[in-house]
Amino acid sequence: MKTVLGCIADDFTGATDLAGLLARSGVKVNLRIGIPDAPPTDTAAFEVIALKSRTAPVEEAIAQARAALKWLQAAGAKRFFWKYCSTFDSTATGNIGSVAEALMRDLNTHQTIYCPAFPENGRSIFMGNLFVGETPLAESPMRDHPLTPMRDSNLMRLLAPQTTKPVGLANRLTVAKGADALRAKLSELATQGVAHVIVDAVANDDLYTIASACRDMPLMTGGSAVAMPLPALYAANGTLAADAPRATAPDLSTETILLSGSCSAMTRAQVAAYSGPKHGLDPVDLAENGPKTALAWLATQDLTHAPLIYATAEPDAVRATQAKLGTAAAGEIVEHALSQLAIAARNLGAHRFVVAGGETSGAVTQALGVDRLTIGTEIAPGVPWCFATSAGQTIAITLKSGNFGAETFFADALKALK
Ligand code: ADP
Repeated sequence: MKTVLGCIADDFTGATDLAGLLARSGVKVNLRIGIPDAPPTDTAAFEVIALKSRTAPVEEAIAQARAALKWLQAAGAKRFFWKYCSTFDSTATGNIGSVAEALMRDLNTHQTIYCPAFPENGRSIFMGNLFVGETPLAESPMRDHPLTPMRDSNLMRLLAPQTTKPVGLANRLTVAKGADALRAKLSELATQGVAHVIVDAVANDDLYTIASACRDMPLMTGGSAVAMPLPALYAANGTLAADAPRATAPDLSTETILLSGSCSAMTRAQVAAYSGPKHGLDPVDLAENGPKTALAWLATQDLTHAPLIYATAEPDAVRATQAKLGTAAAGEIVEHALSQLAIAARNLGAHRFVVAGGETSGAVTQALGVDRLTIGTEIAPGVPWCFATSAGQTIAITLKSGNFGAETFFADALKALK
């Protein structure tokens, strides 16, 4: 199947988020972890490549994105989507705009849009300013993010230093007038040489208008949500064949393991709310003895009851651990332990894996030898079940970034696959 839309995401759970929203259409979506070594085979109409470039230096992020673009072009794609976080996460020397500009050069196109809005998750843009719920981005908890602290809410000001060409705005008043009005505004901005256009969106209807106006741009950029209407739009105008392969879900037995390495506020609430069997990890003990105790506990569990193993801890406890072990070492020790536990669970017969934490998800999928996922049912906005092969077996796996999902996420995940 020729790829209709080739997507490049700057991190891993962001890629699953985008893939999940595209898969709401029922059409098959593939997610590749990293740029595949081999040329495209068995491609789907929608292909998403997950990079790990959010905090990478500009040149490295550009090189990765261009290589991903090449692979997607070889898969047949003519339209592309550059996906970043709905809170526009980037460092002071951020790469969102520089990557977009490099992709535009390769695609020989002179304008793209930026729309990180995700209204279902409370991210909206008004007059070029990004809001988290009712709070401007720079006053939200993103202000204190450890890697990408966001201290400005104005997307034009955030983007301008990341690009060489002019930045402009198509505001909500234009978007509210519909797709034709937005197209006219984009053309007007293009005649003024504006290459990078922030587009306001406060509701799902706005996203539909924006996607309608921009669906044939060689490059669109945004959070995941503005891509959500694209499959239906491509189906309506024949870009996507009516017989494009649909997503199928394998029938898997119910042995399940839940693994959490996220310490985000929402994950902490989710771990507390889970009423099934659970076992906490102590990173200091892991550093001395490895995951012996947890492996022994796991071996006594009935996997049909979906046991949960977690390193999730309150901020004070995390700080104390980091002071003892070092921040990076503590993270690695926990990720390594959860990876070993994932393998052990698979060897004990687990077919379903629920993983909480972005970095944790990267470590666990790598340990399970998963480099390609097809996307299934959505558990929460932006968190789908995925299907993959690990050690020759078909498995279901869901990868949740820290703040996603409701408090009942673990139970929701188990229900969604029934
Ligand atoms: P999130 O998506 O919530 O940011 P991540 O998995 O990306 O979650 O990041 C959490 C990091 O914290 C991981 O590197 C993980 O290994 C580490 N970690 C988890 N639990 C602890 C703990 N109790 N003490 C110190 N570090 C921890």
